[in-house]
Parts: sequence; structure tokens; C-alpha cells
Amino acid sequence: MLTKNEIDKWIESVIKPEQIEKYLENGRDFIDDHFIYETLMANKNPDKSRIREIISKSLELNRLEPEETAALLNCEDEELWEEMFEAGGKIKEKVYGRRIVFFAPLYVSNYCVNSCVYCGFRTENEKTVRKQLTMEEVEAEVKALISKGHKRLIVVFGEHPLSDVHFIAKTLNTVYNTKEGRGEIRRCNVNAAPMSIEDLEILRDVGIGTFQVFQETYHHETYRKLHPRGIKANYGWRLYALHRAMDAGVDDVGIGALFGLYDPKFEVMGLLMHTIDLEKRFGGVGPHTISFPRLEPASNTPFTRQSKYLVDDKTFKKLVTVIRLSVPYTGMILTARERAEVRRDVIPVGVTQIDAGSNIGIGAYSTDTVDHDRQQFILGDTRGLDEVIREMAENGRITSFCTAGYRCGRTGDYFMDIAKKGKVHHLCMPNAILTFKEYLLDYASEETKMVGEKLIEKELEALPSESLKNTVREMLKRIENGERDLFL
Ligand code: SAM
Ligand code: SF4
Repeated sequence: MLTKNEIDKWIESVIKPEQIEKYLENGRDFIDDHFIYETLMANKNPDKSRIREIISKSLELNRLEPEETAALLNCEDEELWEEMFEAGGKIKEKVYGRRIVFFAPLYVSNYCVNSCVYCGFRTENEKTVRKQLTMEEVEAEVKALISKGHKRLIVVFGEHPLSDVHFIAKTLNTVYNTKEGRGEIRRCNVNAAPMSIEDLEILRDVGIGTFQVFQETYHHETYRKLHPRGIKANYGWRLYALHRAMDAGVDDVGIGALFGLYDPKFEVMGLLMHTIDLEKRFGGVGPHTISFPRLEPASNTPFTRQSKYLVDDKTFKKLVTVIRLSVPYTGMILTARERAEVRRDVIPVGVTQIDAGSNIGIGAYSTDTVDHDRQQFILGDTRGLDEVIREMAENGRITSFCTAGYRCGRTGDYFMDIAKKGKVHHLCMPNAILTFKEYLLDYASEETKMVGEKLIEKELEALPSESLKNTVREMLKRIENGERDLFL
């Protein structure tokens, strides 16, 4: 157990005030609470034609302005909401096609010096059994994940000197070097504490995928109340975590807000302002992904049930839709925090990535255990990977484990450029088909194989040219003959 003095010293050594100040404008950050309230107020009772104009703008894959997002958030006409749900789905299909990317979370350490009142890992929670995986244990977890068919992970850490950048880098190296049968993890995203530019350069060099840091709440005062102590108490250090990542050459960054902490309309506006500031400073490249976790119950954490801002299912779907329409070209992540029926309802409005077969206990994949006292919160969708993949396929969504984009430099500005032109799926659908085929051959149940093979045939037929169809057919044959990791 660290003393308060030791924790304070560590925090002082990590936070570099000049790496906050360099991004401020006239000493202020880009979240102007007053501007957000005013914009929401000024765009109340939007009329039908205005909402429809805004929807058309999104359908042309243009990012919305704050006034437009505020108008959508204030819409009270259920018929228009139906139009927005439909538009969200169309936008997603235009940019990403009928693919859905799958990943799994890997929790590596729940040691944490912070006091986030909503989190089971907060330092005061004595019920939490603390654990940090050794590299042997990381390997065992990764093998268990590979043997289910996973290719992409989000690796998650508490905020503590024990899980500093060197430990995270070591973990990533272990993940990438672990092989099991014909499989391996090809993309490792990270959700961890905000870091300095120098530390982020270390993660860039070991091949980090997306670096995710969620602001949780963009509202300054609420942020202060909910993060009373620890390194996370510094709003600015967190707000600019992804600016620093971009400056460090980590091309893909993921923003997020935790819905249930404050007024959800304010949070959607915050996500948009964050996107706008990143785009402004980094040549039009905003967040690679946006996450919108909802507050879930956590062991010995009463706040998760008492917050007055908890978001109901119907409102949640609307919020996700507004995010989709506001930033049409960005990846959107819906996690297994949500129950299966919520996922069925929300995925069609524009989600691009989900996890499945997730277990968020530390060391829980290899031991196949569920222990709520080792978890940060309690999952809503505990179905296995194969079952969720099959359900997606039955609904015409092809699972993609493709990671070719990152290995061919299709990240950052290159990726955003093709995403904004609605061309990601031309490049990515063939690769989705190829990785789906690998999954069907190596890991799927007989039932999933049957549904999946039919879907592959359908998607092959839908490819834009005969020559592309032939190329992909050839590659599928090579996969059937035992080759792996083929991509265009
Ligand atoms: N410690 C790092 C941090 O706080 O950013 C990374 C890991 S934290 C385990 C990942 C995310 O889980 C947090 O950013 C927060 O949004 C989310 N989270 C925390 N408590 C939660 C809860 N009770 N329900 C749902 N999500 C929660
Ligand atoms: Fe620690 Fe992250 Fe949980 Fe906060 S949300 S207590 S920083 S693990």
C-alpha cells in the first residue's frame, strides 16, 4: 500500500503542466460550459425542416457544428427520431459497409490510486481483490482469447505506479508475441491513464493500436466532484491526453464519455467539442473511435445506482444516434456493458465495433471464472463470441477481425481521408470476408459456419468488380488450404 506522500510524489513526476498549457487558448480549455449551455438553449424546439436539413448534411458525411448537434439533441418529435435512426444506419453502411469489428477487453491490473466514485477499482474500495497479472498470466489470458478466435484486444489498466508505461509496453510485447495454434493477436488497443508525450512515444514504438482515454464527464464541476483525489483529479491532464498521443505519433485515438454522471446532452456536446478541437489541431484528423459507456452497477459502489443522471434505454439509443450523425466518419464502440436486447436495438443506428465473449475479471479468461469483486463493473451481455457472431451474420452483418489497415499504414490521416470519402468498405470488405473465413474454419460452431458461409457468398457477389471477386475467391481457396493472415 502506498502512502499519500508517495502517491503525491508519483503524480508530480507524471503530470507535466507544460503539456497541458501548450494546448490552452487564452489559458482556457476547449470545453466552455457556458457556450454548451447557451447552444443547447438557443436550439430548443427545432422545426421539422431544420432537423431534416441537418440529417441530409450528415448523410453527405459532413461533421455537424455544435448548433446542429444541439438541435438534434433537442428534437422531441418521435417521427423525426425514426428518420434519424434510419439515417444513422445508412451513414454507417455508406462509410463502413455491413462489417462489424469484434474485439475483447483484457483487464491486466486493478491497482488504482484514484477515487472515481463510480468505479469498483477506486482506491477506497476495500472489497476489491487487487491483482496485477504477471507476464506468464498475460500469456495464459491471451492464449485463452486466441483460442476463442479473437484477433483484437483492448488492454485495460488501473492508474497506479505499478502499471506505468514500461509495464504497459511489456504487456503489449507479451500480447503480440503470444501464439496459440494458428492464431495470434494482431491489434492491441490500450485504455489506461493519460501519459506524457515521451511515454506515449514508447507505446507508439511497441505498436499500440488505438489509445483510448475517456473524459467520463466533460462538465468541469461534476468532474471535480466525482474525481476528488488521485492523478485523475486533474481535468486538463486528462482532457489533452489524446492531443499528446497525436503529438507522440500515436495515429489512432479514442475518446469517450461515461453516460450517467451528468446531463447526457452536455456530454454529447462535449464529445463533439473534443472532436472539433482534435480535427482543428491535427490536420482534420479527429478521434478514430468514440465510446459511450453507460454507468453499470459495480460491487460495493452505491453511486452507480443512485446517480440522478442515469440514462434509460430509449434515451441511450437517441444519444448514440446523435453521435453517429454528428461525426459520420468515426468508428463507434458499443460494449458488452449493455444487455443483449439493448445491443440489438442500438447497433443498427451506426455502431462499428463491439466486444463479445468478454470477461472483465483480472485473470478470468484462462481460469474461466466470474468474480464480481475482481471486476470494475458488471457486464450486461455475457453471451459467447460464437453466439454473437452468428446473430450478427443472421442479420446480414459480417464479422471483421481485419487488422490489415493498421499494418499497411491505413491509420490517422490516411484512414480519415478514405473514411470521409465513404471508401473504407471498398478496401475493407474483402479483408472482412477473408478474416471471417479464417474464423469459420478455425473456431466457429457448425451452426455458425452454416450461416457464415452463406453470408460470405452473398458478400462476394456484392463486391464491386469481377476481378476483385476473383482475387478474393482465390484467396479464400488459399485459406481453405491452410494459409492464414491474407489481406489486400
Ligand atoms: N483507469 C483507466 C481510466 O479510468 O481511464 C482505464 C481503465 S477504466 C477501467 C475504463 C473505463 O471504464 C473508464 O474510463 C470509465 O469510463 C469506465 N467505467 C468505470 N466505472 C464504470 C462503471 N461503473 N460502469 C461502466 N463503466 C465504467
Ligand atoms: Fe481507477 Fe479508472 Fe476506475 Fe477511476 S475508472 S478508479 S482511474 S480504474
